[in-house]
Amino acid sequence: MVDLRTPLFIANWKMNKVGREVQAFVGPFCEATQRQSSRGEMVLAPVAVYLSDLTKMTQGTHVQVAAQNCGAAKSGAFTGEISPVMLKDLGVRWVILGHSERRHVFKEDNALVNARLKAALEEGLTPVFCVGEKLEERKANRTFSVIEGQLAGLKDLGEAILKPLVIAYEPVWAIGTGENATPDQAQEVHAFIRQWLSKNISSTFANRTRILYGGSVKAENSAQLMSMEDVDGLLVGGASLDPLSFGEIVNRGLKS
Ligand code: PEP
Repeated sequence: MVDLRTPLFIANWKMNKVGREVQAFVGPFCEATQRQSSRGEMVLAPVAVYLSDLTKMTQGTHVQVAAQNCGAAKSGAFTGEISPVMLKDLGVRWVILGHSERRHVFKEDNALVNARLKAALEEGLTPVFCVGEKLEERKANRTFSVIEGQLAGLKDLGEAILKPLVIAYEPVWAIGTGENATPDQAQEVHAFIRQWLSKNISSTFANRTRILYGGSVKAENSAQLMSMEDVDGLLVGGASLDPLSFGEIVNRGLKS
C-alpha cells in the first residue's frame, strides 16, 4: 500500500514570475532533477495566465503543471474565476485548493473550499487540498480540531470520487516565515490526518493518500521532513522560485 505513495513535490509560485521567468525556470529545473525523475512526481504551479504556456513548455518532460485555485462551477457569472472545465481543457491536471492565503487573505471558508474541491473532482482533476492551523490556534491546543473542521467536508463526497485527492498540511505560522514545523511536529499532524481518513473514509484510502508538508521548506530541511513516515511530499513556496533551489529540495528529499 505504502508503495503507492509516490513522493510528490509541488512548487507554488504564488503571484510571482512573468512569462520569461517561467520559461527560464523549466530547462535548469528539468536538468537538475532528470536523474531522479522516475522516483517522484514534480509539479509547478504558476499564476493562471501562464498555465497554457507552461503546459506547452513542459510537454515531453517529467514535469507537470498545477493551477493555484479553481472555481466551484463549470461556467457562468463568476467574474475572475477559472473553472475546472477550463483547466482540463488546457491540459492541466492538478489544482491547489484551500491554500492558506486563499483561506485567510481572501477569506475562503470551508464551505467555499469544499465546493471548489467537489467541482475539481467532478472534472477529474487532482486536487491538492490544503489544511493547517494558525499560530494562535496551535497555542490554544486547537490544531487537531481546526484540521478536523477543514477535513470534515470530505465525508460528504464519498470515497470513489476522492480517489485522486492529495492533502497538504501547511501550518499557517510556517508559511513564508522561515520557521518550518519540526519533522516531529509535521509527523504528528500527518499521522492525525491519516487516522482521520482511515476512520472517516476508509483504511485503504488513508494508506494510499499522499499527505504533503508545506511551510518554509528549503534544501536544508527537505530530507529530514521527507524521512518522516507520513510525509509523502513537499509543497514549497519561496524556495521553489529558483530552479536550482527547488531542484535541490527535490533531489535531497528523494534521497531520504
Ligand atoms: C506555500 O505557499 O505553500 C508555502 C509553503 O510557502 P513557503 O514555502 O514560502 O513557506
